[in-house]
Amino acid sequence: MSIVYKRPAELEIMAEAGALLHAVHDLVEREVAEGVTTQHLNDVAQRAILEFGAKPAFLGYNGFPATINASINEQIVHGIPSGRKLRNGDLISIDIGLHYKGWVADSARTYPVGQVSVTARRLLEVTDAALWAGIRAAQAGRRLGDVSWAVQKTVESAGFAVVREFVGHGVGRQMHEEPQVPNWGQPGKGPEMRPGMTFALEPMVTISRTKVNVLQDGWTAVTSNGSLSAQIEHTIAITAHGPRVLTLPKGAAHGPIYTPLETQLAHQPELALSR
Ligand code: MG
Ligand code: MG
Repeated sequence: MSIVYKRPAELEIMAEAGALLHAVHDLVEREVAEGVTTQHLNDVAQRAILEFGAKPAFLGYNGFPATINASINEQIVHGIPSGRKLRNGDLISIDIGLHYKGWVADSARTYPVGQVSVTARRLLEVTDAALWAGIRAAQAGRRLGDVSWAVQKTVESAGFAVVREFVGHGVGRQMHEEPQVPNWGQPGKGPEMRPGMTFALEPMVTISRTKVNVLQDGWTAVTSNGSLSAQIEHTIAITAHGPRVLTLPKGAAHGPIYTPLETQLAHQPELALSR
């Protein structure tokens, strides 16, 4: 397999798909609260995707039984929605993918439920900052390792750890394309990024370095040491004018959601906070 480059017109359709996915996440976000089941969040997402004329990308993918990944606390990714109710203090990671007009959009958010611990809050901030550090490094002419390193450096300098068992990935007509995009790596290494390359960047971050176990359901990946985990993901494109985040509303200028404003301004004055 090799990297599939997208033409500008194709990027526009991917951005349409991405804007729909952003809207789906917004609808799900409104439902996140103590006492709500992850099955309900799944149903809200699925209904919205279908109403938008799109199709769930995860449902049936390699046999996955639901539209969203709903991963709570020490669950890293691939949590299966169920009757489990969210509790005050939980972190809930929601990963959603959809197909629209033949193209895939893939993004994830992690939400605090009610009042979370200071450490959990910090985990959200650092994961978000790491994603945006990676996005800023996604410049034509630089190497993919620069993106990986930017993510890793942000996470580890905050004293947290990146999960190494899962990686970001090229995305386009297929949900998983070349190249793999690890959340750790060496600057200056890996394939050169060129305009038309599109990938999902998805740091998964834990409080401490840990192994990964998969529960008996065959899907849910958890930290073996019980560490909290967060995942935030965007689908992005390399363009001649810098990175373009495809999973945002049309024309949006976004920065991190959780990073405190003063940190954002220090690190990325070019990004306006819009939410
Ligand atoms: Mg995803
Ligand atoms: Mg992904």
